[in-house]
Amino acid sequence: MADATTRLHNVAGSLEARDLESIMHPATNLKTHPIRGAHVLRRAEGVYIWDNAGKQYLEGLAGLWCAALGYGNARLAAVAEAQMRELSYSHLFGGKSHEPAIALAEKLKSMVSFPAARVFFGNSGSDANDTQIKLMWYYNNALGRPQKKKIISRLRGYHGVTIGAGSLTGLPNYHKSFDLPLAQIKHVGCPHHYRYGAPGETENEFAARLAQELEQTILAEGPDTVAAFIAEPVMGAGGVIVPPADYFARVQAVLKKYDVLFIADEVITGFGRTGQVFGCDTYGITPDTMSVAKALSSAYLPISAVLIPEYLYEPMVEESGRIGSFGHGFTYSGHPVCAAVALENLTIMEEMNLFETVARIAPHFQSRLHALAAHPLVGEARGVGLLGGIELVADKSTKAPFDIKRGVAAYCIDACLAHGLILRAIGDVVAMSPPLIITDTQIDELFDKLELALADTLRWVRAG
Ligand code: PLP
Repeated sequence: MADATTRLHNVAGSLEARDLESIMHPATNLKTHPIRGAHVLRRAEGVYIWDNAGKQYLEGLAGLWCAALGYGNARLAAVAEAQMRELSYSHLFGGKSHEPAIALAEKLKSMVSFPAARVFFGNSGSDANDTQIKLMWYYNNALGRPQKKKIISRLRGYHGVTIGAGSLTGLPNYHKSFDLPLAQIKHVGCPHHYRYGAPGETENEFAARLAQELEQTILAEGPDTVAAFIAEPVMGAGGVIVPPADYFARVQAVLKKYDVLFIADEVITGFGRTGQVFGCDTYGITPDTMSVAKALSSAYLPISAVLIPEYLYEPMVEESGRIGSFGHGFTYSGHPVCAAVALENLTIMEEMNLFETVARIAPHFQSRLHALAAHPLVGEARGVGLLGGIELVADKSTKAPFDIKRGVAAYCIDACLAHGLILRAIGDVVAMSPPLIITDTQIDELFDKLELALADTLRWVRAG
């Protein structure tokens, strides 16, 4: 895979060499990074991005599942500039406010299909989910239930990396040597039938077993100690895991029975990704609270939001009155430039009928995706809307995985790069989540390139 992955880090003074001298990379093997060097990107337009060597790629993961409107949107740039000139910064502490945050909060409330009453702004998906934990704790203290504090999350879920959100995340690399998870966070099984279904078990039976496990966990911990359950409607960073059809119906029935709140993490699935506005709409989830970020601003600026109903807000009002203040918030909560850009982003999405468009083109994306299931390396092709993943396996009939150290999906990702396509390897899953503005033709380009990369990977695997 010489071409696309030839890095320039041995050239003194190159950006690649300077990267090695100065950047500590997130979610990167710091030991092997100096061997490969950085892949420096320079500019982007629509669904395409160009690197430092001038090579063009189709951005098949929308950055990190976030660049929903693609790159270089002039209206978003213009709104950011205008807002910077008008009111470049103000905050929401101590009762201050400004129109961009108010208008964005109103807009968000109008978009969700649960009774959201208040919006708390942050800067990232991680801090939104940390806020969720803190709100659950504050709320239960307000109600005089100081023992009702545990949060149940799921193995292979991804909710971020801060101490609370990183604890919710159910992936070992995000815990190891960071002394996580926190004791109040408990993990239950991952709803991935292909990997974790018992032999002969239907998806329906598997979902029933997981709901039973959830119930057993709540009972073992004590229902009066469990505050909430958090889930992504479709797991993204855990490997694009689409739940069985009736999984969430069963889960919600258990939660209701034991007065355990449902926190929906819509950081990836929010704003059209699954073919409806929210993943909750696609999976029939009525959450108590919701975290959004990423496509909220199409990643033009960092912003996140937590939406909560009146029945959670009201006790917190009383509690803050008792304490003297609601002692939580960020300097950039509701940053006016981020809020103005996010609002314009949502306006553009609506003007373009983007959610309807995604629903219209998703079947083409899904049919090209599912056709890959016939490939000798692909154990499972799965997805919903414009979200997809293929799991590469050593043996399709037994589902035996490759030795993970062999890096088969990583090889495939490099082969994609060579063919001008950016995707992401998660273990041995190749993940896809293109900008929502992708066209039918560009969907074909994505899968044509991926098929070439899979052919390269198969040759490499067979060469041993
Ligand atoms: N929640 C989900 C579902 C995510 O996919 C992510 C990031 O990928 C996060 C939370 C964390 O968001 P951030 O990286 O902005 O902190």
